[in-house]
Amino acid sequence: MYKISVKTILISTLSIVSLYTLKAQTSSVQILQTTRLPKDTTITKTLIKSFDGFLSLKEKPNNQNTFVLPQNLLATSALLDELKDIEKSNKFKDDNFYKCYVNNILKLNDTEYLIQFYYMGTHQNKPILRANYSILAQKRNHQFYFYSPLHQNTVSWQTKTIGNNTFYFKNNFEISKALAYTSKIAEYDSILNIPKQSTKLYCAENFNEVLRLVGVDFKVDYNGYSHNTLIANENTTNLIIDGVLASNPEGFDPHDLWHSRLRKILPAEKTYKPVDEGCAFLFGGSWGYSWEEILQKFKRFIALNPDADWITLYNEGKNYGDEINKALRVDYTLNALLVKKINAEKGFSPILKLLSCGKKNEDYFPVLEEVTGITKNNFNQNIAKLIKQIK
Ligand SMILES: [Zn+2]
Repeated sequence: MYKISVKTILISTLSIVSLYTLKAQTSSVQILQTTRLPKDTTITKTLIKSFDGFLSLKEKPNNQNTFVLPQNLLATSALLDELKDIEKSNKFKDDNFYKCYVNNILKLNDTEYLIQFYYMGTHQNKPILRANYSILAQKRNHQFYFYSPLHQNTVSWQTKTIGNNTFYFKNNFEISKALAYTSKIAEYDSILNIPKQSTKLYCAENFNEVLRLVGVDFKVDYNGYSHNTLIANENTTNLIIDGVLASNPEGFDPHDLWHSRLRKILPAEKTYKPVDEGCAFLFGGSWGYSWEEILQKFKRFIALNPDADWITLYNEGKNYGDEINKALRVDYTLNALLVKKINAEKGFSPILKLLSCGKKNEDYFPVLEEVTGITKNNFNQNIAKLIKQIK
C-alpha cells in the first residue's frame, strides 16, 4: 500500500486534466487518475463498460434498465430517479454540463464492487459539483449489474411486517407513527381508487440519511432540505424512504400526504389547485389545524362578513387566516365544503372531474356547473345555502 498525498488528490480531482483512457470508445464515464482500478484489467473493462451501459439507459423507465436485476429494481429505482437529468444545467443552458467521473472502485468480494462517482461541470475554470453517488456492482456471467446500497445500509435495522406493509426502522423508533402514516395512505388511496399495494417503509432520521441510504451521498438540488421523502414504485410494490416520521413529534402532515397521493393519479400540471387544496383541507386539515378548527375560523369570518360577495372572494383567493404564514383561503375552503357535499351525494368521480378541470378559474366554473348546477351567476346564493349548514 502507498499513500497518495492529499495535495495530489486535490490537484487531480479539481483539474481533471489527466484521465485514464481505459474508458470504452463511446463511454460517457471518465475515470480519475487517482482511482485505483481492479488489478484484473478484463474485470475493469467489463465493469466500466457495464457501468457505462447502465448510465446510458438511466433516462428510460427504470424497469427497462437491463443492467438492473429484477430483485434489485425497487430500491435501485429510487436511486435511478435521482440520476435522471443529472447532466443538465438550467443555469448554463447546457444539457450536458455535468460530466460523470468515477473516483473510487472498491472490491468487496470476488463478484461485488462498490463504485463511487460524481457529476461535475466547470465554469470559468472553477469546478461545480452537482452530486456524489455510491452504487454496488455485481458480476454475473459476462457483465455487471448495478444496485442501490439501501439493503446493505440497513441490515442492522429492525423490520416488522403488518398486513401488506413492511416497516424498517432503528431501535428507538415509535412504530405507532409509521402505522398512522400507512393507515392514512390506505384511507386516501381508497378515496382515490388507487389499487391496494404492498409498501416497504424505511424510517430514516432525516432527508440526508434518506439520500445516503439509497446511494446519493450529496446532491446540490437538496441543499438545506432537512426533512423529505423519496418514493418509488415497481410491480405493485411501493418503496417509501421517509425522513420525516422519526424526527417529527407529530409524525407526518396529513395535508401534504393528500397532495402526494393525488399526484399518483394526477400530475401537478393537470391539477386545479383550489380543489386539490379543498380536498387536503377536508381530509387532512392545514398548517396543523384540523378541518374542524378551520371551520371554526371560517365561521368567525362569515359572522364578520354577513354580506360577503363569495364569487369575488373566491376569485381573489381571500385569506381569512388569523396567524402569520398560515393562510386559509376562501376558494380552498369553499371547495372543501363543495367536495364534502358532492362526495356524500355522488361519490368521488365528479370531484376528480373538478380536480382535472384545468389550471384557471375560467376552466373551473363550466365543470362546476356540469357537476353541481352551480354557475357563476347563482354562485353566491348556493354558497350562502352551503355555509348555513356549517355547524
Ligand atoms: Zn396544500
